[in-house]
Amino acid sequence: MSAATCRRRTLLLFLAAGAAGFLAPTRHAARPSTRVFSESEFPEKLSAIKASEAQLRAQLAAIQREKAQVLAKRRLKIGIVGFGKFGQFLARKFANYDHEIYTISKSDRSAEAEEVGALGSYVLDQREDVLDFFGQDLDVVVLAVSIVSFDETLAALRPGLETHEDVLIADVLSVKEHAENSLLARVPSGTSVLCTHPMFGPESGRHGWENLAFVYDRVRVRDDRSETCERFLSIFESAGCKMVEMTCTQHDVYAANSQFLTHLVGRMLGSIGRLHPTPIDTKGFESVLKIVETTCDDSFDLFYGLYRYNQHSKSTLLCLRKALADLELRLISLELDSVNGGAASDDGEARGTLDHLDLRETAAREWDAQKLDWVDAK
Ligand code: NAP
Repeated sequence: MSAATCRRRTLLLFLAAGAAGFLAPTRHAARPSTRVFSESEFPEKLSAIKASEAQLRAQLAAIQREKAQVLAKRRLKIGIVGFGKFGQFLARKFANYDHEIYTISKSDRSAEAEEVGALGSYVLDQREDVLDFFGQDLDVVVLAVSIVSFDETLAALRPGLETHEDVLIADVLSVKEHAENSLLARVPSGTSVLCTHPMFGPESGRHGWENLAFVYDRVRVRDDRSETCERFLSIFESAGCKMVEMTCTQHDVYAANSQFLTHLVGRMLGSIGRLHPTPIDTKGFESVLKIVETTCDDSFDLFYGLYRYNQHSKSTLLCLRKALADLELRLISLELDSVNGGAASDDGEARGTLDHLDLRETAAREWDAQKLDWVDAK
């Protein structure tokens, strides 16, 4: 090293040390070591750090699970509004945790309510029933009605809501901005509101809720209701759900591209009709059948609600239509290219290619014949 370089380096070191001392004189001693690890030391050190990080994360998860279990063990009085497929599914889990269940629904659901051990069952259209339902001194009222009947239901609940402002209202609608706006507009201003969406249903949550996402937004929770809110959330936490706190708006942006898309594709595939398991199914086709099964089992009200009340769903539908048209066009262009020896023509061949769609009928007849053979052979 030349003398000039050496002087310049000393000066730089001096300035750097001075600046560090000036900017953070007291923290200097506590700075972490800046020792650079050699190539051979690095992987070992990194995996040791990763291992302790994983250990801490596991410890934290265990503590959170324990906390949730303690919270969940304090009994809540839960009223479920809408005792259809999803309301019953929730009730069974709540009952497993020994919470007290009361139900109210548009139709008479007393038989289903009795089956899950509910302590009372009421009918939504009757004002007296609404008052009796709220008269049970409920901690939480869970709204599990169809998306399309949400506003109507809130109007029917109004007499009870007005006399029981202290209750925590939680909804489970699959669209969240609509739920939030309606709740803020229609429940008394002193009532606490928790918007939630369990990202699973009776089918996907059949074998447990472990690692299934549960989205929630504490839209407006009064201080004196926050413990009730935590206890309610802890039911899902202790069941192993992946708890995701996010705004209702953010939820809808994500859901249009995930949940609505899944339902749309499932319904489309379902309306083709003749999709059946075959003896040579690939894993991919098995997934296709699964999507059809899980989405087409839900009510059409639910599907319509996902479309109508999530403002982002329409663009998902348009994107899918465009993607299908683009793909079809690409296939037809390639086909025309090969038929015409490389040059795409505009002479109506494309319409001829679409005629292949008529082959579906033939394919369907063939399927019926094959299936019979296969069933006979078994
Ligand atoms: P749904 O068809 O969306 O809702 C059925 C429920 O809505 C039934 O309880 C029904 O009452 C009630 N209902 C229908 N029309 C009504 C009206 N005019 N007034 C009052 N109530 C009415 O099917 P679901 O699967 O049970 O879903 C319920 C809610 O859970 C929806 O908001 C959905 O978005 C949400 N959710 C569903 C799933 C799922 O996998 N299914 C997952 C997460 C969240 P009756 O029982 O008295 O007929």
